[in-house]
Amino acid sequence: MTTEELRQSLLRNPKNGYTQLSAQQREEMEAYCKRYMAFMDACKTEREATTWTVATCQAHGFKEIKPGMELNPGDKVYYNNRGKSIIVAVIGSESLYWGANICAAHVDSPRMDLKPNPLYESDEIAYFKTHYYGGIKKYQWTAVPLAIHGVVYRKDNTVVTVTVGEDDNDPVFFVSDLLIHLSADQLQKPAAKVIEGEQLNVILGTEPLEGEGSDLVKLHVMKLLNEKYGIIEADFQSAELTIVPAGKCREVGLDRSLLAAYGHDDRVCAFAEIEPLLNMGTPTHTAVCILADKEEIGSVGVSGMQSQAFEYFMGILCESQNVKLADCFAHSFCLSADVSNAFDPNFAETCDRRNNSFLNYGVAICKYTGSRGKGGASDASAEVMGHIRTTLDNAGVIWQMATLGKVDQGGGGTVAAYMANRNIDTVDAGVPVLCMHAPMELVSKLDCYMTMLACQAVYQA
Ligand code: MN
Ligand code: MN
Repeated sequence: MTTEELRQSLLRNPKNGYTQLSAQQREEMEAYCKRYMAFMDACKTEREATTWTVATCQAHGFKEIKPGMELNPGDKVYYNNRGKSIIVAVIGSESLYWGANICAAHVDSPRMDLKPNPLYESDEIAYFKTHYYGGIKKYQWTAVPLAIHGVVYRKDNTVVTVTVGEDDNDPVFFVSDLLIHLSADQLQKPAAKVIEGEQLNVILGTEPLEGEGSDLVKLHVMKLLNEKYGIIEADFQSAELTIVPAGKCREVGLDRSLLAAYGHDDRVCAFAEIEPLLNMGTPTHTAVCILADKEEIGSVGVSGMQSQAFEYFMGILCESQNVKLADCFAHSFCLSADVSNAFDPNFAETCDRRNNSFLNYGVAICKYTGSRGKGGASDASAEVMGHIRTTLDNAGVIWQMATLGKVDQGGGGTVAAYMANRNIDTVDAGVPVLCMHAPMELVSKLDCYMTMLACQAVYQA
């Protein structure tokens, strides 16, 4: 053999996905990304993603699960976990004893939540006090247009849904930063201290009501809120209102190959998971899609992936077939679908480029996450890696390997560990992202599309 032949047959030869994409796949990719962009514009919080998924599932013949219900192969069901997380399944032809094929993503993203008593006035400017949620570089959230999303429960326990800042005619909101002219001291601070948590105060208004007394700007804002939503200040105490970047998902680059949006992490994988289920015929193994909440703060709480809500749902499925839940879990497979860090030439020194994911190289498989000596990682076994490799290759999915940055540089985790704790073989995979956790994140259309194909292949395995 010549050296070149040896090279071809023995060595890895990673290629940009665009060199392998057929004309038909290109067309499908564009159509898929159009649908994804619409999903992103409709869903900026876990609540909105859950609401969207319930409505979409109902339109595709899925039924809400009920304990004791009869379930047959091909039946389509969902469990709405308190409006903040959702599990969807299509019953397979095989017994659940032989396990389910599960894809798990999360639909919460970093943001600024309102504090329980958020409204105040300082020097005739009205503000909301916020408490950031998830890992953010706080300085990135100043001087960008913001929107308010969420729900308020009023004294009579009726609920009102609030969305301000997304319609072109809506006002938007801001956190101020210091002018450069007076930033001599600020610019000497470490980036973590340039803007601090208690400075993430959102500007709501500046016009005082006519009259005597203090806090006339605050009173004006409260009056406007009362006129529109029928709420009073005490109602903030039974509310979940959150501040997110305002605006829509946009194409990026002259070639339009990238998408910018708030919260690709991890709605880009959530959409990739749910799409292939909607029109799926009867799979061999039961296909299960999880859209979890609270991943960004440790998968805790009743709507997070550590919650027994998953056992509750899977228990109902298993009971309908007289199968033990533990047997089902032991034979199941889970793709923990979450984003990875795309290699960024601007910050090349933070990554091992031989092991990092790249834009346009397809869905990124992450054998392990964690930090330092793999601390906190769910490390997929060689057997699991062999399974996913074969599954993706057989389905013609373009994929690559990923690690989260250089050893000792930092790290992260996903829901994988909590799925693995349930005795379910699990591996991480997802879309490479640039500027993860910034107000706007970037992904490539090709990688989005390949992640959807990967989820489809997992369901059909
Ligand atoms: Mn994530
Ligand atoms: Mn994240």
